[in-house]
Amino acid sequence: MCRHAAWLGAERSLASLIDEPEHGLLKQSYAPRRQRHGMVNADGYGMGWYVPGRPEPVRYRRSVPIWTDANLPGLAAVARSTCLLAAVRSATVGMPVEESATAPFADRTWLLSHNGRVARDAVADLCDAAESTCDAAWVAGAVFQRGRAGAGLGEALAEVVVQAGEKDPAARLNLLASDGTTLAATVWGDTLFHHRFHDGVLVASEPLDDLPGWQAVPERSLLTVTRDDVRVQPL
Ligand code: GLN
Repeated sequence: MCRHAAWLGAERSLASLIDEPEHGLLKQSYAPRRQRHGMVNADGYGMGWYVPGRPEPVRYRRSVPIWTDANLPGLAAVARSTCLLAAVRSATVGMPVEESATAPFADRTWLLSHNGRVARDAVADLCDAAESTCDAAWVAGAVFQRGRAGAGLGEALAEVVVQAGEKDPAARLNLLASDGTTLAATVWGDTLFHHRFHDGVLVASEPLDDLPGWQAVPERSLLTVTRDDVRVQPL
């Protein structure tokens, strides 16, 4: 299982997801506290963020452990946005360790991360092409394909998770996605939390700190976050 996190609200730095909080993604890469599968997330990491005047997100992905990238702390401290998404990866057995298998996956304005695993033939039918042979890349391809056909972010996530989950009942499909103005996330086999602040909302596989306010999102649900609303719907 990988770990992912996102923020939507007033402008913040990527460091607010990664190395500022006590249990940010940097710490979660070697000492996650709620992870049900895998012990460390050392097979790469990535982040995406939106900047004014450019609808597509800026993206930075590496296939090395996050703690080995000496360039990261400086970049994370100055990269600021109203919408941030980042992930650390523990590759599922049999999956390639390469940049193109590392979240966040991106297409047009959308970003996507997958915590979990799914049989590739359960998603291969749902998608024409993917960037990598990694299962997560196929999941991303299926979601992006629905987006290009006109589906909304939450709608595309829900459709892919329910269809892939039917074909592979053992699948774990916690997805986290954004289009720059909305965050959408599914809970299907692993943990997910959200935390509301006066100026925005954090969403994360597990709490980034021990401060009060983190709320678990129930299993088999879709979380949708906009600037004015947090909604949880059953899947
Ligand atoms: N199955 C995906 C991969 O191999 C996600 C891994 C995970 O959640 N640990 O990258």
